[in-house]
Order: sequence, then C-alpha cells, then structure tokens
Amino acid sequence: MAGCRPGAPGSEQAWLEVAQAFIQETLCPPGKEPDVQLAQLVIDCVKTTWLSQGTSQGLTLPLSYSFVSVKDLRTHQRLPCCSHLSWSSTVYQAWAQEAGPRGVPLPRERLLLLGTLTDLSGNLEQECRNGSLYIRDNTGALDCELIDLDLSWLGHLFLFPSWSYLPSLMKSPGEGHVELWGTPVPVFPLTISPGPLTPIPVVYPEMASRLLRYRSKHRNVQPNLAGNLIRFSALVKSQKKAYFVLFLGGSSPAGTQVSVIVQVPAQLVWHRALCPGRAYVLTELRVSKLPGHRYRVWMTSTSSQLLPLKPECVRELELELAGVPLEADPQSLPRPSSPQDKKRPGPDCLVRDSILLSYTGMVTDTLNQPAGLYELDRKLELCLAYQQFRGLRRVVRPGVRLELQDVHLLQSVGGGTRRPILAPCLRGAVLLRGFSHQVPETQFSHQVPQASLYEQLVWEHQLGLPIYLWATKALEDLACKLCPHVLRYHQFLKYSSPGDPSLGLQILAPILEVLIPPGCPGRNTHSEILEEPHHCPLQKYTQLQTPCFFPTLAFLKEEAKRRAWASFDPKTLLPLPEASHLPSWQLNQRLAWSWQCLLPSAFRPAPVLLGILVPSSRKGCLQLRDQSGSLSCLLLAQPLQPLTDPRLIGCLVRADRFQLVIERNVRSSFPSWKELSTTDFIQKKQARVYVQFLLADALILSVPRPVLHSATSSTPPRTEPSPPEGPHIEQSRLFLLSHKEALMKRNFSVPPSASSEVPQPTLSFHVLGRWLGGTQRKEGTGWGPAEPKEDENSDQKVLLLFLGSSVRWFEFLHPGHVYRLVASGPPTLMLFEEGGSSCVSQHPLELAGCASCLTVQDEWTVELASSQDIPEVLGIRPTLPESSLTDLLSGNFADSLVSFSAEIVSHLWMKPGSSGAVRRCVKLTVALETADYKFPPHLDVYIEDPHLPPPLGLLPGARVYFHQLEKRVSRSHNVYCCFRSSTCVQVLHFPPDTTVSAPLPHIYLAELLQGDKAPFRATASCHVVSVFSLHLLWVCAHCTSICPQGRCPRQSPACPTQTSVSQASIRLLVEDGTAEAVVTCRNHQVAAVLGLCPSEWTSLLEFVRGPGKVALQFTGPGAQLEVRCGWEVGAQISIFLGAWLEA
Ligand SMILES: [Zn+2]
Ligand SMILES: [Zn+2]
Repeated sequence: MAGCRPGAPGSEQAWLEVAQAFIQETLCPPGKEPDVQLAQLVIDCVKTTWLSQGTSQGLTLPLSYSFVSVKDLRTHQRLPCCSHLSWSSTVYQAWAQEAGPRGVPLPRERLLLLGTLTDLSGNLEQECRNGSLYIRDNTGALDCELIDLDLSWLGHLFLFPSWSYLPSLMKSPGEGHVELWGTPVPVFPLTISPGPLTPIPVVYPEMASRLLRYRSKHRNVQPNLAGNLIRFSALVKSQKKAYFVLFLGGSSPAGTQVSVIVQVPAQLVWHRALCPGRAYVLTELRVSKLPGHRYRVWMTSTSSQLLPLKPECVRELELELAGVPLEADPQSLPRPSSPQDKKRPGPDCLVRDSILLSYTGMVTDTLNQPAGLYELDRKLELCLAYQQFRGLRRVVRPGVRLELQDVHLLQSVGGGTRRPILAPCLRGAVLLRGFSHQVPETQFSHQVPQASLYEQLVWEHQLGLPIYLWATKALEDLACKLCPHVLRYHQFLKYSSPGDPSLGLQILAPILEVLIPPGCPGRNTHSEILEEPHHCPLQKYTQLQTPCFFPTLAFLKEEAKRRAWASFDPKTLLPLPEASHLPSWQLNQRLAWSWQCLLPSAFRPAPVLLGILVPSSRKGCLQLRDQSGSLSCLLLAQPLQPLTDPRLIGCLVRADRFQLVIERNVRSSFPSWKELSTTDFIQKKQARVYVQFLLADALILSVPRPVLHSATSSTPPRTEPSPPEGPHIEQSRLFLLSHKEALMKRNFSVPPSASSEVPQPTLSFHVLGRWLGGTQRKEGTGWGPAEPKEDENSDQKVLLLFLGSSVRWFEFLHPGHVYRLVASGPPTLMLFEEGGSSCVSQHPLELAGCASCLTVQDEWTVELASSQDIPEVLGIRPTLPESSLTDLLSGNFADSLVSFSAEIVSHLWMKPGSSGAVRRCVKLTVALETADYKFPPHLDVYIEDPHLPPPLGLLPGARVYFHQLEKRVSRSHNVYCCFRSSTCVQVLHFPPDTTVSAPLPHIYLAELLQGDKAPFRATASCHVVSVFSLHLLWVCAHCTSICPQGRCPRQSPACPTQTSVSQASIRLLVEDGTAEAVVTCRNHQVAAVLGLCPSEWTSLLEFVRGPGKVALQFTGPGAQLEVRCGWEVGAQISIFLGAWLEA
C-alpha cells in the first residue's frame, strides 16, 4: 500500500507534518487558506480514538498508521483489507478467528480513513441520489455500506475507526466499496437538534387509512403520520424511478396498517436507516393515485421528514370525516384472478403454496454468486434473484449476517435442489445485520459482474424459482463445458438481445419453451408489494421434474463404457440352446464383437449432447469437443445425406436425439458354454464409444470466431513476416468430386534426398475429380473470373492427395458434390496446375491417367461450392452409382469392382485360424437393397488390415453404401466382397432406435425352383415328409475331434480341457403343398425338428455319449420306426428314420 508512512518510529513531528499536509489536501475545502483548526480537530479525533483502545504502547499518536485518501484507496489497494484503529491486536485476533475454519480473514492494514458521509454520488451539481451511501473527500467518493445509519450523520466529516475495503473483483479499478464497522467518530461534535417547540400534530394509521377512503374537508392538509414501523419493502429501481414502501401500524399488531410510498430521491437513503419495530413520524404526506390502480395511497412529499416518534412531542390531530366512502378498502379489494388460480391442480401437477416468514441467519457458502444463490446456516439455500440485489451482491459472502423480512420458504422444488429455499420477493427487505470477516472467494471473479443473463431469466423470461434453479445449474454445467477455452464467461452469460443472442440462452431455449407457459404476465412491482393477499412469482410453485442435463463429453463416454460393460453378459449374447453346441473357438468368436446403443431415454434425467464440432487432423474423423475431452461422432445431414459443408467446423452442436454407440471387443477363452458365467476367461476388453445423430435433429450455433482462434492457440498470434513478393492473395479452383478412396495408411515415395529415414506409412486418402474452370482470385468478398486455360483441350481430370493434417477434410468430401479448393499466400503461378509447386512428380501407377495430381497443403481449405458457382450442366443431384445385381452376383469377373447399398445383417470378428480365415478380419453379412428381388440377396463383405478397425457405424440394422468393393468367388462358387484401398463407405441410415427386427419374408417352396436365386433369408411353413439322416456326436470343445467315451483322443499335445460338446445334424424332406425340398438342420434346430422337449433332447444326447444302443421311437399318429440304430464305438451314430412327422 503506497501511503505516506512516517520515517523512523517515534518521529512524531514527521507524522504530524505528513498528517497536516494530508488533511489540507484532502479534507479542507479546496482553494482556501490552510485550515489549522480543522487539522487540529482531525488529529485530536484520531488521537482520542487511538488512545481508547487501551494498548497504545505509550504512544500518543498512531505512528504506524498512515492517512489514506479515497483516491489512493481506489487506485492502489488491489487486495481486500481491513483497518481497525481502535482495536488492539487481541481484539483483531479474536475477530479474525470468527472468519471460520474455511474462510480467510481480511488482512489488517494500518490506514486512517476520513471523509464526509453522504448519499450524493458523482458531482455535487447533479444531486444524483438513489439511496446509496458514499464516503467523500477532495479526491473522490467511494461506495460504502453501513449497518445502522443515523440520518443526522449525512453531510458530516467523520473518522472511520474500523472498516474493511473490498476492491472490485473485476479488472477495472475504482469500483470497490468500504464496509464500515462500528460507529463513525465525528470530527466536529454533532449538534443534537432540540425537539419542536410545540407538539407536532399527527394522525395515526387508523385515521390515515380512513382519510384515504372518505371525502374530507381537510383535503389540502398534508398530515403527519405517526406509527410503528411494521415492515418495509425492498428498494425497487425501475428505468426511471426508484422507490420503496413502508408500512406503519398502531401499537397493537392486529390494528390497521397504512402504506407509504417513498420515491423522492433524497429520501431513498431512509431505506438504510429504518428499523422495524421502532416508532416514527413521517411529516407532510400527500395522497396519490398509482397508475394502473383504482385506489389511493399515501406518498411522501419533497419536504417530508422521517423523525423518531417521541410521545411528548406529538399530539393527535382531530379531523372530521363526512359522506360516503370514496372507495373500498384497498386491502379488501378482490384481487384480479390469475389463470393459475382457475386451474385446478391435477394429481401430476401439484401446486404448492410457499410460506411467508422472517428469518435471520448467516451466509455460510456462495453457491452461485452471479445467480444470487447462497447457503444459509449450512441448512438452507437463499435465492436473491427475485429482488434487485446488485447493491447487496458485493456485500453478501460467507460470514455475512442477514435479516430477511417476509421471505418465501419453498420446499421440495425438485429439479435437483434438495434443501429448502428462502427467496425474498419485493415485498420484504433484506437487511444487513453483520459484515463478513472473510476475504471474498475469487472463484466468481471471472464471471460477469452484473450477471445479466441470470437477471434476464427472472425479469424477462419470468422463470419460476424451480425452473430458475435448474437453469442456473444447467448454465453452470455448460460454462464448465465451454468456458474459458471455447468461450469467455462474459460472452457466455451476457445479456441476450435479439440481434446479439446469448449462447447460454440459445442452448437452454428449446427446454425453456416447453417449461414456461406462453403469455406469462410480467411482474407488477406495486401490486407485489402493496396487495393483500400477497401475489408474486414465488407465491405458488410446482415441483420440477429435472428436464435434462448437460453432461461433459468425458462423463458421457465413461458412463457409456460403464453401462456397456455392466450389461455385458456372455449368456445373453449366446442363448443357451444354441450355445450348448458351440465348440470353444466358435463361442469365443461370437463373443469377440458386440455392440450396445444407448438412447437419451436410457438416462434419468435425459442428457443433452453438446460440443464443438471439429474434424481430427490426426485421425480424419469428426469429433465433438468440450473442455473435458472429445467424443467421436458420425453425422448425417439427414437420412441418405452426408455432411458436405465444412463451414460446420467450429460450430456448437446441441442434440437431444442421438444414439450413443459402444462397440465392445472382447478377447476370451471360454472352454465351453458351461463356463460362460465365469468372467476369468475374459482376457482383454476394449470399447469404442461414439455418438451418431442427424444434423437435422440438432441445433447448430455459431461460436464467435476470434475467440475460437484465441482459444486454440495459447500464445498471442505473432505477426507473420510479410512475404517479399508482395501482398497475400487468395486463389481458388472449383472441382467436381467423382470418387473418394479409403482413409488408410499408405506408403509414399519420397525423393531420396529428402530424408534418410525409412518412410513410415502415412494416413491419407485421394479423391478423383474434374476441374470446373480455371483458377480464380479473390476480389473483394467474391471470386474473380476464372483464368483462361492454357490448353482448352487438356484433360481436366485431377487427383487430389490429402495427407498430414489435410485428412481433416475426409468426412466432408463426398462424390457428386462440387467443392472449392482455396489457398492463400503469395501469388504463385499455376498453383493448382500440372507442374505447379504442389504437384506430385511420381505417383503410383494405379493413379495414372490423371492430367494433374496435387497434394493438398495443410493450410489450404476446402469449401462447398455455392449454387451460383456450379455450372448448369451439373444441376442434377448426385446419385450413387450401383452395380447391377447380375454383375454383382454372377461368377464372371468382367468388372471386379462393385458398388451397392445394403443393410447390415450381422457383424462378426474373426480370428486367424478360425473357420478358414487366414488373417484377422471382420465379416459383415449384408442384405442388398433392390427393388427387383422379393427376397433381398445376402452377401458377405470382409474387412481386413489395413482397413481395421472398420469405419464407424457398420452396425447391424444400418444402411450403408459400399463403393468399389472387390468381388471374389469362393471355391464353393459363393460370391463375397473385400475392402480394398479404393473402397469408400458411406452410412446412409443409422440403425432404428427400436431393436424390434422386421420378420423375415415368407416364401413358398415352389418359388425356390424359379431361376437362379442368390443366397437370402426367408421363412417357409412345411410338413416333414421323411428324415434321410440324423447325426449325433460329441466332439472335443477345444479341437473338435470326435470324442469316443466322452473324452478327447488327442495325445501329444493333449487338449487343455476335457470338455466335450454335442453336435447334431439332420437331413429331411419337407413339402408345403407347392413343392418338396431337402432341408439340413443343425444342433439346437434338430431338437425342434424332432419335436423333443429340452429334457428329452438332453437325455438323448447323453445316451449317445456312452457305448450302447440308442433307439428313438416315435409314437405320434402316422409314425413308424423303420430302421434300427447302428452303433460302433468311435464312429458317429446315424439314425435313419422314415416317418411321417408333424412339423
Ligand atoms: Zn412474494
Ligand atoms: Zn481335443
């Protein structure tokens, strides 16, 4: 603190000289002769106060203290502090202890503060008064707070022996305030005004109330009103007028009350001096009518005074009242009925009444300072938002004692708030009963000082308390997600105006629209204070069901994983009848991949997805980001329409309809189905979490750009050295994209001189396209004419190579769309031409045939061409090329690259060595979409390295377009497809939200005979005509060799387990009236075909396990057992049946 400290201790003379200079400069009327008398009075005053503390250590002057002017305090004191001239160290220590275990006590400075106590702010000429108090000296005025103001102090010079100073929490200096502890010491003795010579004539409330209602001959009399102060309202400040209302009553509490409106600016400071329970005289009142109200009220006149009531100084004025009442008593007026009253509360919307009470307590915590939420006495919450509490906000912090008059108590408001809440409306005042000893918390210092958005929610959007509390929590969560890296707090919480909406409000708007009934009447401040019965927004409330929450992306991801693994149950994934026949490798393969889709409705309350959309420069995929992390996402503009516009990058996306997908990968070694409940056989689990939704269902909000940039780079942007060639220009060229290849790691030939290191495969992709016109230059805000091409006949085909951070454009580039490639920098000739600087000189053979081949530089950008950029010939919507089904399913190889769209039926991960797979791969079974076939043909698509893990979204039920898959034919003449580097996959439809699968189509057997049918799935109802063969055997669960006598015959090495599983197959002839067919059934289907119940089936299989004979005899109508059962040890059993069976 830069003060005027004395030099050596004991140098009283020096201290006195400094003091006199200070007094002359800051306290004497400016421009006058030095006032020796004033200086002496001030020093005497300081001396007396200093000596009163008792431990002055023999010093007659407080030499360790220095004088401080208002200006010095405002400009130099940056930290909160306190100063107590009259306190000994012991008193201060005791005082500091009261800051509590959690609070930091205000540090003590040794400063002497003097000044005039006044309610005049700014310059003296304007006489601007609004009820605030100030300390003034020649250097300026400083806001101050005082607990028990005596109106006679105003305008007098005081020494403030004990005070604390709280600088503004915001960066701007000069907004701090002083909290005055204890009574100020007057420099000049205050003159006690003598009582009036004659008693003042007064009326009491009973008569005052009647005067309002009756015509009187004393109409022009401005009566004086005497009475006990029952209560007084909050100070209401509207655009132009500030006022408050006080209520005087008789000596008995049940007697008549009369309200007086105080709105003369010079009288607003009374609000700080009033004390309920004391008796006052208000002089020279007048009767006035309130605009918009029928009845008349008392108001103070400009000459009114507030005096303490002394019975010996007043006499009652006798007035005669005549005639009929002018109007009914305002207190018995029927209240205009509100729509809320007419609505009878239904069972699900229980309207509760809050309780009005008075409460005195201490603030123990700050819950949300900008929103006006505090904790009281560790058990209650306090919401000050329904009052205009800007003045209180700077004072209220843990340690402050408050008296709340006529405050509403609300319980069980819901929406996540559990404790009871006290909320004052305008009816009752909030009185300061004690200042805090603590240093304010700094956690809210970065937030808006006025917290405009919170005020807007209460005063403009008319939120009831339960919704307001929920909204403040939601805004707090949102601020945690987005501030300060994406947005600054003041941007997020700023006042929302039509042209400049607040992002916070935009995010909440869809929910608030649902929660707030339209046409809510605004608050009428006069009615809220004056009317009986009382009516205000806090009077009635309904418990709020928390509508939704805004989880961080990290939470959502963790919660998704937690739920996916909690619900992972091998026994559910592999139902028993089927699982019991599976050998070990098959069992584990079936468990290797599974997925779960969580919808918002799976959570309570429902989560709303929110994040900034960013493409990853490292992985190429799209991500949503917030401060907690990122979440991969798969987006469609709408069904069938991919995302094409890169302007979405950096936008804030809010979605309440989405699918949270968890793909689970498990490495397990379950020996057989019997061990499925033992988790010890799971060696490794991994989960891939992502979210998929339609942008059409989401709210896209643009985020102020400069902030986004400053957030991404922590260092301030340096000014780039200007290029020697001249100014930067932007160049661009349009191209029509015809094909996009897979995003995968590729090898690139590097010039030998470039690097001696072994080149690593780089994540990259190519697109093939055609230039539309020549290079254009930026002219103003648009693009100039295209440069003429050197050779009109030259091939316009182009291959663009995206590697490095350019892979971020992958998700936005789709065949059939026109894009603009934009580069800025020094003007380079032939930037986008063959032979230009970006040209790849040697590209792989497979890419040959393109006139030019460009590597897209990291700093180049891609834009979606606007409609006027696109030549008319291209005005057709892009269609996805599809191979004909005959090409696709026939065994000829005329075109081995095929394209089609299909619905994914199953998704299976296969390990090498299992079922013929040579390498690790994923097998997708897809149902082709075609209008030509009644039964969609099924096809297997294999994905191998380097395309693993597969792209996002290849989920059962999803519709996907596969472009340029390689067609292959197996040894058994089955057609299947494989991914290759030119393959491009595009999800067209997400899986449906409901898992109810459509039933398979029905087929008649005769239809099977018509033509060449591709593999498909259907159901047929038929009779079993005869059974050709039935095979039952037991195999080793590990090596699948046949187990004679129930144990594996393999010796060296022996199988690790001795578990065996049964296998069954049956071949039978069926007919359905249209044709006959031979059917082969396996395993659990055999039991169904034979009509055996599970116990019969199990015992049959058990009989087969040991040596002996098994005969199966059917006794149903028409059944005849024809053949015996042959049995040899070690051989498989065959039962030949020739029987009519009812299927
Ligand atoms: Zn109220
Ligand atoms: Zn074995």
